[in-house]
Amino acid sequence: MLSVFRIALPVPLPTLFDYLPPAVGEPGVGSRVLVPFGRSKAVGVVVQTDVPAQVGSAKLKRVLRVLDDTPLLDPELMQSLAWAADYWLGPPGEAYANALPLLLREDKPLPETQEPIWQLTIAGRSALDAGSRRGGSRALLQTLLAGPMSAAGLDTALPDWRPAARRLAEAGLVERGMAVPEPNFFPSAPKFTMHAEQEAAVAAVSAAFGSFQPFLLDGITGSGKTEVYLALIERSLAQGRQTLLLVPEIGLAPQTVRRLRDRLGVPVEVLHSNLAEGERARAWLRMRSGEAKVVLGTRSAVFTPLPHAGLIIVDEEHDGAYKQQEGFRYHARDLALVRARALQVPVLLGSATPSLESLANVEAGRYHALHLRSRPAATQPPQVQIIDMRAQRLEHGLSPALLHTVGETIARGEQVLVFRNRRGYAPVLLCHSCGWHAECPRCDHPLTLHVAWRKLVCHHCDLQASVPAACPACGGQELKPQGQGTERLEETLCAHFRQVPVLRIDRETTRRRDAFEQLLGNLAEDAPAILVGTQMLAKGHDLPNLTLVAIVGVDEGLLSVDFRAGERLAQLVVQVAGRAGRARKPGRVLLQTHHPDHPLLRTLLAQGYAAAANGLLAERRQTGLPPYGHQMLLRCEAHQRAAVDAFLFEACAALPVTDTLQIAGPMPAPMPLRAGRQRGQLLIESASRRHLHAAMRPWSIQLGQLPSARKVRWSLDVDPIDL
Ligand code: ADP
Ligand code: ZN
Ligand code: ZN
Repeated sequence: MLSVFRIALPVPLPTLFDYLPPAVGEPGVGSRVLVPFGRSKAVGVVVQTDVPAQVGSAKLKRVLRVLDDTPLLDPELMQSLAWAADYWLGPPGEAYANALPLLLREDKPLPETQEPIWQLTIAGRSALDAGSRRGGSRALLQTLLAGPMSAAGLDTALPDWRPAARRLAEAGLVERGMAVPEPNFFPSAPKFTMHAEQEAAVAAVSAAFGSFQPFLLDGITGSGKTEVYLALIERSLAQGRQTLLLVPEIGLAPQTVRRLRDRLGVPVEVLHSNLAEGERARAWLRMRSGEAKVVLGTRSAVFTPLPHAGLIIVDEEHDGAYKQQEGFRYHARDLALVRARALQVPVLLGSATPSLESLANVEAGRYHALHLRSRPAATQPPQVQIIDMRAQRLEHGLSPALLHTVGETIARGEQVLVFRNRRGYAPVLLCHSCGWHAECPRCDHPLTLHVAWRKLVCHHCDLQASVPAACPACGGQELKPQGQGTERLEETLCAHFRQVPVLRIDRETTRRRDAFEQLLGNLAEDAPAILVGTQMLAKGHDLPNLTLVAIVGVDEGLLSVDFRAGERLAQLVVQVAGRAGRARKPGRVLLQTHHPDHPLLRTLLAQGYAAAANGLLAERRQTGLPPYGHQMLLRCEAHQRAAVDAFLFEACAALPVTDTLQIAGPMPAPMPLRAGRQRGQLLIESASRRHLHAAMRPWSIQLGQLPSARKVRWSLDVDPIDL
C-alpha cells in the first residue's frame, strides 16, 4: 500500500502536511526536507513516516529533496516538541520551527561547527626552542604554544598578530586549520569551601543523576545558588554529560559565561537572540554532535539538542521572560521539565523568589525543595525600611528622607541604586488649565514624555509625537509633566548630587549590544556613584560597593487588577533589594510608597518572601486561580470592534457545554485598543487540567474554521501570564 510522510511546515495552521516519498533518499523522523508548498517551496521536518495513504492521496505532492541523511532532530527532541505542540495548542509547524536556529530552517548545507584556527607546526615548535625568532613572531609562537587559537582569540591575546602570522606561515612555522575553538585558560577553583546547605543541595541533585527528578533551589539573593550550579555542572562534566543552563535575559549572560568558563575550563556555548545567526547555528550543532558539553541560553535555548544530557538548570525560574508571548506561546521552564523527564535527568529550578506555580509543586510533593538561607559573602542581610510618602514634600517624586540617605551613602564613598520601573521623563503630560492630557490615538493611553528626544512616545505601540508648545484643547501654556520616569529621576539626582556620576540603565541607554555590560564596566568599583534604572538592574551583575537600594514607585503593582500583580511586585521588591550589600559592607533598602499599610508589603517586609508567597497562594486556592485552577485565553483583534465581537461570540457558542469549564467573556481586553486595533478576549477556566485540554483541543481547530475568523487575528494562550 502507498505510504506518505507527515511533515511539519513553518506556517500558522493547526495541521501537519502529507507528502509522497521523494524520488531519491529516505528521510527519517526528525530529518528536514524540501517540499513544494503553495506556489513556492518550504523546508519542513518529518514528523511521521509510513503514514498509510488516505483516499485522494494521488493528488499529493512529492517531497523534493531530503536535506538530512541522518535526522537533525533526535527522537527525544521530536517527542518533546510533539508534547509542546499538543500542550500549548500552537500550530505544530511553528513549534518545530522554533526549535531550529534560523539558519537551519533554510535549504542550505549545515554550517561547519569548526572554525579556522592557527596552530604551530613541528618546525614552529623547534624554532621557538632554538630562539631563532624575535619580536612579534616570537610572541605569536609563544602564544600558540598553549594550543591552537581562533582569529578572534588571537585578536584579544595579541592585537598585532596578523603580520607575524603571515611571515611565520610563509616560513612553514605556523599553519591554519579547522577546529572547535578551545578556550586556553586554566580552570580556577573557588576561593572558598561550600557551606553546609550548598553541599546538601549539590549532594541531593547529584544523587539523582541519571533519573528524572525536579528540584527547586530556593535561596535568597547572594546565597550562592550560582556556586551550586557550577559544582553540579562540574560533576555532570566529570561523567561526560551535557548541561543546559537557562537564564531569563541576555543581560545576565556575559558575567555568567565568564564565571562558567573560568571555573569549568571547557567551552561554554551561548544561545540567545542577540547572537549572529551563524554563531547560533554552530552552538546548536556543537551541542547536537556532543562536541560541546555546556550551553547557557535564554528562552529558545530550551530546544537545544542534548544527546548526552546530564542535567538541566533553570535560573530565576520565576521570571516571566521564559514565556513566549507571540507565535508559539510556550513556557521554557515548563518545557525544561518535560525534556528532563524524557531525557531522564534531574532538573533544578533556582530562584530567590520562586513562582507560586513551583511552590505549589513543592507543596504537592512533585518537586523536592532545597534551601539556601544565608549569604556567605555578606556580613548581614540588608535592612529594609518603608518611607511613607503621604504628607511629604516630594522633589520630583523623591522624599527628603530618601535624598538624605542617598547623600549619606555617597558621602561614605558607596554606591546607590534608585529603582523605578518606568522609562522616559514622565508618564503623563497634563494641562493644568483644562485637564487635557496627551494620549495615543491608537491606544487610548497616555503618552510618555521623553525630554532628551523632545518627543511624546507611546510605550504600547511606539507612536511618536512632537511635544505641543501649548495645550491643544484650551491653548493654555500650563502643560506639566506628571509623575516620574527614570529620565526625570536621573535629572533630579544629577542636579542634587553634582559631585558623583549618575548612570541611567534602561532600555534606551542599553540599546546597543553589550551596552549594559559597558555601562556597568565603566563604574569604578571603589568610587561613589548613583545608578537609576528599571527592572534591568534587578539582577545579574554583582556590585560590591552598592550598599543602598531605593525603590520608588511600586504602587501601581499594589493597585493592579491582574491577579498576578501581587506576586510580581513581591518578586521585584525582593530581587531589587537583593542588589544591596552583596559583599562585606552591610546593605540598606528604602521602599517609598503611598500605601505603607498594604498587607502584602507588610508581610513581605516583616516576614519575607516565603510568607508573602504563602499568603498569595492561600488566596489563589480560595479563588481557584492558577496554580490551583487552569486557564486558557482566546485573544482577538481587528480594526472593527464588530468583527472582534462576532468572532468571540461564535467562538463562545462553539465551546462544548460542560460544567467543568467556567467561561468569562467575551469581554474587552485590558487594553481594549492597541496600535489602532480593537481587542477582545474570552477566558476559559477549569479546575481540571485534563478536562480543559480535552475540551480545548478540538475547539482550537474549530476556531480556524469559523466564518468570522477570517476578519480577525486570533490566538490561544495556554496558561497565560498576563490577562
Ligand atoms: P546567587 O546566585 O544565589 O545570587 P552567588 O552564587 O552569585 O549567589 O554567590 C554570591 C556571592 O557569594 C558570590 O560572590 C560568591 O562567590 C560568594 N559565595 C558563594 N558561595 C560561597 C561560600 N560557600 N563561601 C564564600 N563565598 C561564597
Ligand atoms: Zn488645556
Ligand atoms: Zn499607542
